[in-house]
Amino acid sequence: MRVGIGTDVHPVEAGRPCWMAGLLFEDADGCSGHSDGDVAAHALCDALLSAAGLGDLGTVFGTDRPEMAGASGAAMLSEVRRLLADAGWTIGNAAVQVVGNRPKIGPRRDEAQRVLSDVLGAPVSVSATTTDGLGLTGRGEGVAAIATALVLQQSDDR
Ligand code: MG
Repeated sequence: MRVGIGTDVHPVEAGRPCWMAGLLFEDADGCSGHSDGDVAAHALCDALLSAAGLGDLGTVFGTDRPEMAGASGAAMLSEVRRLLADAGWTIGNAAVQVVGNRPKIGPRRDEAQRVLSDVLGAPVSVSATTTDGLGLTGRGEGVAAIATALVLQQSDDR
């Protein structure tokens, strides 16, 4: 067994579709970025790659590869799952905490957990917190996410 950690932060961009934890939130501004700006999905990708010792999102996908333009968080997670499987790793579970004022995760937590768990084929816990008005997340300038993951080495006699 191995654990990993991942974090991500993106600036909020007025009028951008808000993709977070694999869901579209119609009532919030999204995050800017080369992909869909889903910091929760990106932090999970990094946690999984970290756990498996496979580097990070930047090394695996590149930060400006044209085929990643607008890539969904779910698509990136799916690709990370494939990379881990190819390297002989099974995902035990993963958890992600979104840090920011919006979108409000709580009312859609179950839905987010279902979507992300389906993509990874393992239980994913989704939680959220704010920073009491402090810092870039507290001022609503950005949204952050912190994730952990547990992976298991598949036995050789599989
Ligand atoms: Mg990112």
